[in-house]
Amino acid sequence: MTESADLAPIREAVRALCANFPGEYWRRLDRERAYPEEFVAALTKAGFLAALIPEEFGGSGLTMSAATAIMEEIQASGCNGAACHAQMYTMGTLLRHGSAEQKARYLPAIARGELRLQAFGVTEPASGTDTLNLRTTAVRDGDHYVVNGQKIWTSRAEHSDLMLLLARTTPRAEVKSRTGGLSVFLVDMRAAKGKGLTIRPIRTMMNHATTEVFFEKMRVPADNLIGAEGDGFRYILSGMNAERILIAAECIGDAKWFIGKATGYAREREVFGRAIGQNQGVQFPIARAYIGMRAAELMVHEAAALYEAGKECGAEANMAKHLAAEASWAAADMCVQTHGGFGFAEEFDIERKFRETRLYTVAPISTNLILSYIAEHVLDLPRSY
Ligand SMILES: Cc1cc2nc3c(=O)[nH]c(=O)nc-3n(C[C@H](O)[C@H](O)[C@H](O)COP(=O)(O)OP(=O)(O)OC[C@H]3O[C@@H](n4cnc5c(N)ncnc54)[C@H](O)[C@@H]3O)c2cc1C
Repeated sequence: MTESADLAPIREAVRALCANFPGEYWRRLDRERAYPEEFVAALTKAGFLAALIPEEFGGSGLTMSAATAIMEEIQASGCNGAACHAQMYTMGTLLRHGSAEQKARYLPAIARGELRLQAFGVTEPASGTDTLNLRTTAVRDGDHYVVNGQKIWTSRAEHSDLMLLLARTTPRAEVKSRTGGLSVFLVDMRAAKGKGLTIRPIRTMMNHATTEVFFEKMRVPADNLIGAEGDGFRYILSGMNAERILIAAECIGDAKWFIGKATGYAREREVFGRAIGQNQGVQFPIARAYIGMRAAELMVHEAAALYEAGKECGAEANMAKHLAAEASWAAADMCVQTHGGFGFAEEFDIERKFRETRLYTVAPISTNLILSYIAEHVLDLPRSY
């Protein structure tokens, strides 16, 4: 499957923008664990983060394939889209399940960059991957809901105005279906901070602006409930395919960056009087990483094509994410090896990208859970958990 030539100008435009944010920019932020404000502002201004918002709401109205090209190019340029990738897919929940009034109120402002919807509060410390077991509750009180509980790994919460929050509105013991009783809210964090909402940063091995978030009697207007009360899990699931495909594309971009760095270095670095890339022991790992990346890339294209044709793509989105995350991690490891000692030097950016790309076999869904999904839903094996 080859890509449509229509995407070439988008790719070029993203590359041109990213050229203004070289390695030293990211290294400085990485050292300070600071947020790439200027980068996110530039992407927003260029309309890239509004790629999937329809034109009627002021977005660019592009396809999923175009959105994957944007995310891939960001990573392939050495930049880090994790600072803002969530806006592309979290807004899909609002777009698909929000009321006409909610969409009109929020989507154009998000597209214009006046509002940021970068925070996605699903994971909790106690329940982890077992989302249906989450403990955060939202209890109706007049024209508000009162939220109590805690989220963890809520990335970018300090740099976002809005958060898409999944909370339990009906106790698990009282729901009719296994997946019922959870609801999605669009929380205006500007209004809630200091009034029941506390955000605490978590320092991680890479610069990811992730946090833990505490809710103590936080009041959310009932108008901010997305769709029907109790159907939230289904809404979140419906956004997962987009999330998987876009993050898979980021991994492809990372893999391309590592492979590009490694081939460049292998051609130039001379040891024992010849380029190290002349040795098959150096060539073959690079070739292997390239093959892995290309195979994963085809699956990303397949998943994106199915998605934009409105067809079922759960298996392909998960397989794309799995293959791409494995390919980027294999390429990262190969790149360090190819560079020898310099692979560890900060100024080469390899160790930074190595830390950044490591995340994707764990989040937003870990390898085991993808394997379980394929085993159960594609291979018809018994559910394991
Ligand atoms: C940097 C970072 C950013 C994140 N950003 C966000 C965010 O913005 N919003 C958000 O909601 N979440 C976010 N997450 C959370 C992320 O989605 C989870 O960490 C991930 O889904 C794994 O869940 P867990 O950490 O709770 O692991 P656990 O569920 O505790 O699992 C631990 C390990 O056990 C394995 N495991 C668990 N159950 C099974 C089973 N039944 N069979 C086989 N293996 C199993 C898992 O695969 C994993 O390897 C982020 C995480 C990180 C680290």
